[in-house]
Amino acid sequence: MINVTDIQVMKPLLISHGFHFSKAKGQNFLTASWVPQQIAEDAGVDENAGVLEIGPGIGPLTQQLCMRAKKVCAVEVDDRLKPILDLTVGEFDNLEILWNDVLKMDVKALVEEKFQGLRPMACANLPYYITSPILQVLLEAECFDSVTVMVQKEVAQRIAAKAGSSDYSAFSIFCNYYAEPEILFDVPAHCFMPQPKVTSAVIQLKIRKERPWRIDDEKIFFRAVKASFAMRRKTLQNGLASGFPELGKAGAAEVLEAVGLKPTVRGETLDISAFASIANEIARRKHG
Ligand code: SAM
Repeated sequence: MINVTDIQVMKPLLISHGFHFSKAKGQNFLTASWVPQQIAEDAGVDENAGVLEIGPGIGPLTQQLCMRAKKVCAVEVDDRLKPILDLTVGEFDNLEILWNDVLKMDVKALVEEKFQGLRPMACANLPYYITSPILQVLLEAECFDSVTVMVQKEVAQRIAAKAGSSDYSAFSIFCNYYAEPEILFDVPAHCFMPQPKVTSAVIQLKIRKERPWRIDDEKIFFRAVKASFAMRRKTLQNGLASGFPELGKAGAAEVLEAVGLKPTVRGETLDISAFASIANEIARRKHG
């Protein structure tokens, strides 16, 4: 198997195919062999797993996944990589490469079609310019057992942030609603070519089988979360009144009072169960 993380191997391979890195496609390729090995290992990929990889690049993580999983589907948008991947991962008959933009695909349908009878997982060194939309697609598909991805360290911290911390955001709530996140390890910039300006981290999101909150209307829940964080410096009463103009300031205060919160409370201090109560109270007023 070609060691594609070895710069002495990688450079001539890229040069001989006339390949130039595309910044626009978020191409930072791994040059430290321990990283893809540890990602595949920590993701818990085994012979019962069907793994969706996003952005195989020249295949360092793909190799590690194919060595462990029953089946791997890798989605890559840049078809200039085809002749290189033929050389680096062509030997694996449990691998299918789909030349597509992952954001234009029906991920749930893909998983149902390709991974029947297997434990579906997603595993990737993500292109950082579209980290959030990709995570949104993977989580909303509601078909994976776990999602293990490398992202910018500060994004990993935002995903795993708890209520009240400065990193806590609407995206933390979104991710925590679907999954239990855990930051696994950091990856320094020198482990890539070209080197990114930031430190990276691998984060695992274990998808919740059951959610411990009762949420009557998911749309209202996410609207309430968005409204609360859109006006970070304002009180929750003002945030809710802007996000739900039909409530008005007085209605927003009544909602908060009904769930035992002061109108001056700030959204960033509230956990998911508090947002669930607020959303359920708004839904009760709307739908009766
Ligand atoms: N997995 C390789 C590695 O670890 O060295 C490459 C990771 S690189 C950070 C991100 C990869 O995602 C690149 O190969 C890039 O071409 C690919 N990519 C970028 N946008 C994509 C998209 N919308 N859909 C699928 N792949 C994409």
